[in-house]
Amino acid sequence: MENCLFCKINRGEIPATKVYEDDRVFAIEDINPQAPVHLLIIPKTHRATVLDIEDNDVETIGSIFSVAGTLAKERNLDRGGFRVVLNCGAGAGQSVFHIHYHLLGGRPLNWPPG
Ligand code: AMP
Ligand code: ZN
Repeated sequence: MENCLFCKINRGEIPATKVYEDDRVFAIEDINPQAPVHLLIIPKTHRATVLDIEDNDVETIGSIFSVAGTLAKERNLDRGGFRVVLNCGAGAGQSVFHIHYHLLGGRPLNWPPG
């Protein structure tokens, strides 16, 4: 999508610290980290919200969790715990309307989130 921040990052038009990439998804460091580890795992295909996920996205969405596990292990979060979060809609705190999964860890995480 022309004017989407994460599509632009995917195309290399806006710089970001990429920590993972395959043919379906990429992961970057969040620019405003809310925990010692705060990564964003992002499907390359533009989908604005969870409500826009299509049947043929299922493999891509599934692969997000495998990438999350790999990155969590790489960052030594597997013992202390971590969270994979997706905000859907402005009321839930979504500010970038291209699906992305937050991987947060490295500090105690309260439940429920605010
Ligand atoms: P959300 O509020 O769930 O839509 O999450 C959007 C996330 O994108 C926030 O955690 C922002 O800090 C992060 N973000 C915004 N702009 C950038 C950027 N240029 N590079 C990396 N992360 C960004
Ligand atoms: Zn996009």
